Amino acid sequence: MKISKIECHVLLDPEYDPAATSSAQDDLVVEVHTDEGIVGIGETDLNPWIARECIEAPGTHTMDQGLGSMLIGENPLEIEKLWWKAYQATAMTGRRGALINALGAIDMALWDIAGKAANKPVWQLLGEKSREHLGAYASLQPEVGSFDAYITSMVKWAHSAKEMGFRAAKLETTFSGPYANMGIREDDEKMTEVIRAVRNAVGPDFTLMVDVQYAFDSVDRAIKTINTWQEFDLFFVETPLWVDDLEGLAKLVAATPIKIASGEWLSTRYEFSDLIKYGNVGVVQPDIGRVGGLSEARNVCDMAKANNKIVVPHLWKTGISVAAAAHLATVTPHMPFFEFLPPALCESRLRKELVVDEVTMVDGKVTIPQRPGLGIELNRDALELFKDAARKIRP
Ligand SMILES: [Mg+2]
Repeated sequence: MKISKIECHVLLDPEYDPAATSSAQDDLVVEVHTDEGIVGIGETDLNPWIARECIEAPGTHTMDQGLGSMLIGENPLEIEKLWWKAYQATAMTGRRGALINALGAIDMALWDIAGKAANKPVWQLLGEKSREHLGAYASLQPEVGSFDAYITSMVKWAHSAKEMGFRAAKLETTFSGPYANMGIREDDEKMTEVIRAVRNAVGPDFTLMVDVQYAFDSVDRAIKTINTWQEFDLFFVETPLWVDDLEGLAKLVAATPIKIASGEWLSTRYEFSDLIKYGNVGVVQPDIGRVGGLSEARNVCDMAKANNKIVVPHLWKTGISVAAAAHLATVTPHMPFFEFLPPALCESRLRKELVVDEVTMVDGKVTIPQRPGLGIELNRDALELFKDAARKIRP
């Protein structure tokens, strides 16, 4: 079998809000075609126009080739070999960041092809099944008109998640730092108020995580506030300090009993190696597309296991990434949860409409995928609609 074409789809939710802190509004979906008619689907989470250039740009010398053109004619089943070829042949532009993020979409599609070719779900090719059901947590998105609307919406979404059967949810509480929600600025006690309200709403027998989105500008401030949250029995606190402040993360980890999570933007095993070695966080959060695909996410899982860390992937995209996470979780015993943005709890039309997938939750448990490949299909009408919306921004 040979790769015959790599098709890039730049997608945008027509109702996107440029002030929102939500990457679920756009998408880069790839379809990797083969000469035997099998087509693999993948996606990744970065600026989709930049991602497309990473794949479609030509290359003029051996250290900086075009990511897409170099893979044409290759055997799609030689996934590891192709990952290394792509990594090394794009090294001047790539190695980290956008180009690796884009490679992640292609890698995901190659695993889809491999599963379809073998007539097996991808997890059967990734490793040993380690569980009967998957742990998913709901990500709750606030309304951001005012603090009152914010806290009310968090409590409302927490109730909805619990009613849907979730046993775990992550709330957002971001009132300072670079991503403070659309101008609401409050002191750190207000974060505590939101957490208390949600904990009271869901009761004690429910797993709660908190995402503060890089809100703290100093380690001392993070330690002081986070240590007042011990009474809320939090599973982890996500991205309290800036992504590159590994020294600060290590100090925070040493000063609080609450687990600290980070890693959503990192690419390759090498960045996770630094996060584990120097940041010492308890929870690593690879985004499967961004880190470099299922191949590299599996490497990060292995590294986490060797260092007694747990893995809870970042996921804020469509059913394509949800499926990829479900396959990885099936073979990863130290992945107690993955982020699951259920269409019913989400504003984004992309999340709701793009993909026909089989990952569903019954009685609070997400079922293990059984269809060949990733087990998803694209809704072609939705794909065209989202492509049209993206073309209006840039053809
Ligand atoms: Mg986050």
